[in-house]
Amino acid sequence: MSSHRPVGIRWFLISGLLTLSCAVVAALIAARFAPWELVAGNMIIRTQRGMTHTFPTPESGHLINIDNRTNFELSEAPQPRNVILMIGDGMGVGQVSAASAILHGPAGGLAVESAPITGLVRTYAGNDLATDSAAAATAMATGFKAPKTAISILADGRSPRTLMEALKAVGIRTGIVTTSGLADATPAGFLVHADDRYQYADIFSSILATRHDVLIGGNWIRHHKAKHDREYLDLVDRVDELGPLAGYSVIHSENDLAHAQTPVLGLFPPRGDSTDDHGPDLTITTQFTLESLARDDVGFFAIIESEVTDSRGHMNSIAGVVDAVREFDASVALAVEWAETRGDTLVLVTADHDTGGLGIIDGDYDDGVGEVRWGTEVHTAQWVPLFAFGPGAEHFSGVIDNTDIGILIAKLLGIEDFPDLEP
Ligand SMILES: [Zn+2]
Repeated sequence: MSSHRPVGIRWFLISGLLTLSCAVVAALIAARFAPWELVAGNMIIRTQRGMTHTFPTPESGHLINIDNRTNFELSEAPQPRNVILMIGDGMGVGQVSAASAILHGPAGGLAVESAPITGLVRTYAGNDLATDSAAAATAMATGFKAPKTAISILADGRSPRTLMEALKAVGIRTGIVTTSGLADATPAGFLVHADDRYQYADIFSSILATRHDVLIGGNWIRHHKAKHDREYLDLVDRVDELGPLAGYSVIHSENDLAHAQTPVLGLFPPRGDSTDDHGPDLTITTQFTLESLARDDVGFFAIIESEVTDSRGHMNSIAGVVDAVREFDASVALAVEWAETRGDTLVLVTADHDTGGLGIIDGDYDDGVGEVRWGTEVHTAQWVPLFAFGPGAEHFSGVIDNTDIGILIAKLLGIEDFPDLEP
């Protein structure tokens, strides 16, 4: 069919392609010489029905977001001693509202819904409206926008200090738990610096050298890309020898948690036949992490991440997403209850981006049939929810940027020179 297209359409396609290539070249040149500005131009938005809409892009973009907000005024209210940042990877508003209705009925009942303060978070990356976990983690961890796949390295090559590095330097205890690989983009963005998220061996060996108090994640031996990286797999194979050399107590199972000493490095096997999700139920590792980090009461910062919320979204599995939100929300309930008994701990629950663009489009009570639609199998630029509990929560209401999250946490925990481009 395509070989019999009228000349007009062919010419239209060729000229369109040429225009697009020129725009890409111009954008690349502009990025090379003016790394903090997006070239003013047009963005052509395509729709599923073949329509296109053209929108102007801003004169001055946010490739690095050098003008990010650093002038937050803290309220007079007591500030937190500890901060727990809980990240449902890919957990957009659609996932939370679907899980709420499906698990608890139309009036809801998830733990996150009891948050006294809620906000919405813009997640755009330095080079794309729809971000990935690497650029999103970089934004939260450093206060700067980065291109997709960058691990706390900016478009101009600079490596701003991460929140975890800044907090560790002043003696605040630090930990991260993920059901994804420990070397995956979200933990990596908070822990280390790398040109891109696919340098698994470099990322893993840099993580070993950080010596944070709690590092728990998956060994990632079945991940579709990491499993082909010989150098990475070799490091994982030798972790029982490399971990203690770097100062960690190394663990591999839920049973090991009972006698684990900090600094602890947990590398858990994949769950069942999953390639992306690892370890015991997130409530178990969450409980362990909070107890371990709170032990000597010098203040701590913990990140608790669920990967399942993202991996099931990529599969467009509504049952999978609902179950993932259920597990994650149970960890939120645990953390919030734990924090409430102390009164000195801020709990923030958010996502790095939305995955799948999920929406409930029908749910008739009488015929008992509902329907959901997925927009895509990849990430979207939808704003994501933020739920805040405890002292300091009031700073997170409204529509904020993902870069604001790290900057505010640093400020609340007494770090003044943050964001920090010259660590
Ligand atoms: Zn994803």
